[in-house]
Amino acid sequence: MHPPAAGTVLVRHGELGVKSDQVRIKMERQLQGHIDALLADRSISGTVRTERNRLYVRTDPKHIEDATEAATDAFGVVSASPAVRVEPELDAILAAMKRATEREYDGGAFAVRARRAGSSDAHPFSSTDLEQEGGAAVGETIESLGAEPTVDLDDPDFTVFVECRPEKAFVFLEKREGPGGLPLGSQRPLVALLSGGHDSPVAAWEAMRRGSPIVPLYVDLGEFGGTDHRARAVATADRLAELAPQYDMRLRVAPAGNLVADLLAAVDATRMLSLRRAMLAMADAVADDHDAVGVVTGESIGQKSSQTTANLAVTDRATDLPVHRPLVTTDKTDILERARDLGTYEDTSIPAGCNRVAPEYPETNATLEAVEAAEPADLFERVRAIADDRTIVE
Ligand code: ATP
Ligand code: MG
Repeated sequence: MHPPAAGTVLVRHGELGVKSDQVRIKMERQLQGHIDALLADRSISGTVRTERNRLYVRTDPKHIEDATEAATDAFGVVSASPAVRVEPELDAILAAMKRATEREYDGGAFAVRARRAGSSDAHPFSSTDLEQEGGAAVGETIESLGAEPTVDLDDPDFTVFVECRPEKAFVFLEKREGPGGLPLGSQRPLVALLSGGHDSPVAAWEAMRRGSPIVPLYVDLGEFGGTDHRARAVATADRLAELAPQYDMRLRVAPAGNLVADLLAAVDATRMLSLRRAMLAMADAVADDHDAVGVVTGESIGQKSSQTTANLAVTDRATDLPVHRPLVTTDKTDILERARDLGTYEDTSIPAGCNRVAPEYPETNATLEAVEAAEPADLFERVRAIADDRTIVE
């Protein structure tokens, strides 16, 4: 919902505001770059400008919805509002509020919320004046539409926002939520292990949300995985890549079919743990080539036998890099809900291939010594070679 002729998106960020000036300016530049890249990738005309604690996207009114969506896809954005820009004068503001109400009011109680920035004498009116006069103007407009105007300041159905700055004012009807977090690129990259399941894309997205570009890596389990898993990994990587067009987020695929077959033949109860260790070590090798400083997985305490706290302690030892697990305490139902919001749920609705690798009685309380004793002596050498043989999905 936006006012007629809306051609500006007001973009608000959160945590950047508490950084030092130097850091904030750098992060604002990264956020601006990200929104620019999203606009260009989606062929939306627009320019992004940064002012203190605020970004503005100017666009053609016919692209206002798409431009707002691009802004709310950018990491670090707390909210965005498609707005119409008017002169910072009472008449112009009230007229814009009336036009917005005329076109978008759809019943229910209303409220006007006004903010004024700048010195107290920047305008001949206060924010209270704006709310009172604006409330009267919106009420009259609702009446002219044949409805009974009712005000509800606590839980309105229809809100007209005004933001008045010294040299311009904005009228808008919505604050659309963004992902929050920090601008992409404000952290060093991480390698994200993407399985084609539901959890790993959500975990990767969480790391991106905190500012880390990711290098997605899929470990192809050969006949134990199957083309459907690979296709799902590709689809989820594509979805994540759509959100970060300024980075190379093509899926890397490590061919591990032979290794899995050998683990299946040689290792029993701790097989899945050796496979996890191999995956982490592959991620470590890929990280070396991408300046990445950690690994992200979709693991969650106790979700599978390989994810008991004891077993996570053992698998962690396969790499010197930190293993980030954004979903470590998240329940599966909540993860699935987030996957739906993110748009990766449909891509991943087939049971995972690991089921064909898992032993009948998996170890849930492993020790490093027992896992090492059972796994092939050349495991990590082979892992290096597999990582080197990785391909890139265009
Ligand atoms: P997901 O966790 O993505 O839903 P899943 O639950 O089938 O898939 P798990 O067995 O829970 O997979 O695997 C735990 C984590 O290990 C995954 O979240 C992912 O980060 C990583 N992983 C598992 N299998 C693969 C694979 N074939 N390629 C890359 N990473 C994988
Ligand atoms: Mg999982």
